[in-house]
Amino acid sequence: MKSRLPAPEAPYIAEPLAHADQPVHDERVPIYLHELGFDELRARLAADGLRPAHAATLWNALQYRAQTDLLAREDFPPPLRRWLEWRLGVECLLDMPEVSSHTPSSDGLTDKFLLRLQDGQEIETVVMGYEGRHTACVSTQAGCAMGCVFCATGQMGFARHLRPGEIVAQVLHARRVLQGAGRRLRNLVLMGMGEPLHNYDNVMKALQILSDTRGCNIGPSKMSISTVGVVPGILRLAEEDRPYNLAVSLHGSTEEERAALIPANQRWPLHELVQSCRTYGEKTGRKIFFAWTLIAGVNDSPAHARRVAALLQGLRAHVNLIPLNETAGYAGRECAESSASVFHGIIQDAGIPCTIRQKRGIDVAAGCGQLKAARRKRERAAPQAA
Ligand code: SF4
Repeated sequence: MKSRLPAPEAPYIAEPLAHADQPVHDERVPIYLHELGFDELRARLAADGLRPAHAATLWNALQYRAQTDLLAREDFPPPLRRWLEWRLGVECLLDMPEVSSHTPSSDGLTDKFLLRLQDGQEIETVVMGYEGRHTACVSTQAGCAMGCVFCATGQMGFARHLRPGEIVAQVLHARRVLQGAGRRLRNLVLMGMGEPLHNYDNVMKALQILSDTRGCNIGPSKMSISTVGVVPGILRLAEEDRPYNLAVSLHGSTEEERAALIPANQRWPLHELVQSCRTYGEKTGRKIFFAWTLIAGVNDSPAHARRVAALLQGLRAHVNLIPLNETAGYAGRECAESSASVFHGIIQDAGIPCTIRQKRGIDVAAGCGQLKAARRKRERAAPQAA
């Protein structure tokens, strides 16, 4: 859908977000309505003399119905309509990314979208269908600074953090897609482009908005934050007792092995990561999901599985084995089903629940960053072909 709003003149610079008990009315700084919590929206409208009921109507349109053409709502009360005509597109903006591309999988269960933000950055959002439930996988950054060697996004580098409204807007996009098919979005995973704990404050703000029962109403237990192992972020989640699921990417069972796959291991070594997970488990009592991407000949042997089992002993853990989605750096390293099955058996025998993730959306390059990487490759190839 085409945005009717002008792009901001300067790139967004993250600033502390206003709280409900602080005035949010500063006309020099545009406000993105999708990143206001309910109380903040009410305070913003109250600053212009509107009643709380108007805020409830606007919130419902934005966050529950996921509507984008607010001025088309002829049933809005006149004061709210006048306010929108006055403020929208000037002091108050909407986050409405344009769909650059939409790729459905051949099995009809996965839809991958490349969304273009107002400054031209492109991010990936995936809608996945499982039996009786639908999950949105959203991005938290444009690009990523972590540089994991098996990840297409990691190979692109970091562009910028996403604002809370840009994270919320991806979920609202998924809701619109599903609403059109009479389906409901139940789960949210932060496993798209970017490292969520590297953009901690904006991510937490977005999750708070998305869990509001008057809006998207995705329960915190249905939300999963996936991290490559940003230790300060894990400790902060524990300290603040955030009620979301935590998934930690492990991928290597020794410091050297992990550092070769995940450069961030040099900053937050494996032993510190496991210790932070123990602290998290003790403080919150929550189970931690550990992701292990199986790469043939790199980390898929029985010896690797035994080391993983030893590493996680005593933790309330669940291991998710993920057969590699091929990226430029790891072509031809797909793990054999038999190796995955042996790996799985060793972890289970050690008393740690373990699953092998279904290969979803392989034909739509549903691995993080693969759609954008594929487009870049095509764009680079185009001039030569001409
Ligand atoms: S796997 Fe995640 S953390 Fe690692 S580079 Fe890719 S997006 Fe970043």
